[in-house]
Amino acid sequence: MAKEYANLINGKPVPARSGKMYENRNPADQDDLVGVFPSSDAEDVNDAVAAAKAAYPEWRALPAQARGDIMRRATEILVKHKEEFAELETREMGKVIKETRGDVQEAIDTGFYAFGESRRLWGTVAPSELPNKMTYVTRQPMGVWGMICPWNFPMAIPSWKLFPALTCGNTAVIKPATLTPASVDAFVGALHKAGVPEGVVNIVYGSGSKVGEALLHHPDVCGVSFTGSSEVGKRIAEVTGKNLKRCSLELGGKNAQLVLNDADLDLALEGVLWGAFGTTGQRCTATSRLVVEAGVYDKMLEMVVEAANKLNVGNGLDETVEMGPLVSDGQRNTVHEYVEVGKKEGAKLVLGGEPLAGGDYDKGFFYKPTVFADVTPDMRIAVEEIFGPVLSVIKVKGFDEGIKVLNSTRYGLSSAIYTKDVNRAMKAVELIEAGITYVNAPTIGAECHMPFGGVKDTGNGHREGGWTAYEIFSELKTVYIDYSGGLQRAQIDNA
Ligand code: NAP
Ligand code: MG
Repeated sequence: MAKEYANLINGKPVPARSGKMYENRNPADQDDLVGVFPSSDAEDVNDAVAAAKAAYPEWRALPAQARGDIMRRATEILVKHKEEFAELETREMGKVIKETRGDVQEAIDTGFYAFGESRRLWGTVAPSELPNKMTYVTRQPMGVWGMICPWNFPMAIPSWKLFPALTCGNTAVIKPATLTPASVDAFVGALHKAGVPEGVVNIVYGSGSKVGEALLHHPDVCGVSFTGSSEVGKRIAEVTGKNLKRCSLELGGKNAQLVLNDADLDLALEGVLWGAFGTTGQRCTATSRLVVEAGVYDKMLEMVVEAANKLNVGNGLDETVEMGPLVSDGQRNTVHEYVEVGKKEGAKLVLGGEPLAGGDYDKGFFYKPTVFADVTPDMRIAVEEIFGPVLSVIKVKGFDEGIKVLNSTRYGLSSAIYTKDVNRAMKAVELIEAGITYVNAPTIGAECHMPFGGVKDTGNGHREGGWTAYEIFSELKTVYIDYSGGLQRAQIDNA
């Protein structure tokens, strides 16, 4: 019997008021039922927000270090259960076990970082313009945060949001992606075992259109942290903007790896394979375009096709498998539609381009690693996010054209350049329009202590990850202390 889950409200399991449930199945094996989850709606969100609001004053009053210590204890629980949680993630999301271990590890790193950061919630002190007066800035918690998560990093992304938000003294209502709810249950379970008080974190399972929308509109939610597509991100910015709520958006990408004539091609090959086919291409930082200088284009393309063709695709629980399924049938259909678009646009399909069928493949949503050659920068497969194992290879005459092509999408998340020429590497760092640039490393591989996010349609200027996350989840308070004993007036000619 698969486990039946309930919403988590005020520390208690609470079924959706509607009584409705949905099934969460393994995308590599549809016979494997991971769990049954509530399909909640606005009333359940109201209950959860009320619980988070009631828990806020006490949680906020706790010293930050005490909150940080709970984060440390929760992280130790994650360490202990890393393997079990990785397996659960692979079962509900599909990516290979090596990568889900990495996903849990990212949550672990983020948790220990939060523990450290709880002793560093620094403000700023500045001299006052008046005598016998001091001024400083301190950080304050904000209230109840709404968190809306995608399915591709089932534990890491919720941890990026919850660890800093809680450490700052906020409470939260989190909505997992419909496709990957069990990982959030496991993560929040660790928080509770570690001592997070009832009501501080609440989980409401269900769809974006019901649970997500209710969170956005709720008057007692002070801010929304969202990771997902640019389309939904714009909707979130619109609703929160109207109500003057803070909103942090981490959205889509169309990331490119630029390979110059002087690059180490073996290194560039390893980078693009990992970047394009890791997580079955379903990373916001996935390498979706390979932009290659003419002198090494044919060679690089040949190397990529040969290596991608050998990738072992299958159930991610098998240690020898290098690429898992797509997360859902819908995602696989979207990918296949893009392949059809690419063919119609005149790109040359040199590898893959169809679902994998037969045997165990029929139990899940598998797709062949796919490569298009001779892609031109204006084609849809060169500019739109596909979110699957599809690589578009583009030839450019030289460095300047490479940068221009790299910048010719509406997104700006990650980017990579492979070259041995330090001058051109530095120039690329200066010119590439992206939140993240790697030199001689693939477009994926963010580290948890560094700011993460992008420019253009990838976000709205915030950076989760690292110390910048703590800026998102706290409000500045400017303090003036006058110890002169008299009325001193700033800006007024007192003489
Ligand atoms: P999505 O469709 O935008 O969904 C993301 C989350 O938003 C899900 O929980 C979804 O609920 C919810 N949602 C949908 N409509 C909503 C609405 N009207 N109001 C409130 N919430 C709503 O994205 P996805 O397909 O799950 O994930 C893939 C996308 O995420 C890609 O574009 C990828 O680039 C992006 N991503 C970005 C980052 C980053 O950090 N930049 C990281 C990972 C992924 P459901 O449960 O109903 O789907
Ligand atoms: Mg979706």
